[in-house]
Amino acid sequence: MNKIEHIGIAVKSLKDSNELFTKLFGAPPYKTEGVESEGVMTSFFMNGPNKIELLEATKPDSPIAKFIEKKGEGIHHIAFDVDDIEAEMTRLKSEGFQLLNETPKKGADNKLICFLHPKGTNGVLIELCQEIR
Ligand code: ZN
Repeated sequence: MNKIEHIGIAVKSLKDSNELFTKLFGAPPYKTEGVESEGVMTSFFMNGPNKIELLEATKPDSPIAKFIEKKGEGIHHIAFDVDDIEAEMTRLKSEGFQLLNETPKKGADNKLICFLHPKGTNGVLIELCQEIR
């Protein structure tokens, strides 16, 4: 596993939070992208070497809607960059981690992604992401 690729933050209103984070970082998001299969709209900010993903639910049964309902807005996941997502998924499975998807999914920002069940990672939702080359 490589460096933190991004930190995902669940927000109620992408519009309001885009304005807030634009003020915070002094620069607007470089990308806004919907992921239909996940029921989310996302935006991405670069601040120096650090990438922040904001996520807003686009339907009531979206994982982001459920997260906000339970915990409120806030840090939703930490994503780590990996070179070979399939190899990393196999390795983590053999270490006893529970994967939320058995095959890599297409995520936002040109990535293949897989989430680990937070029950097995001290309550932190971890995302693996591999750049699609
Ligand atoms: Zn993410």
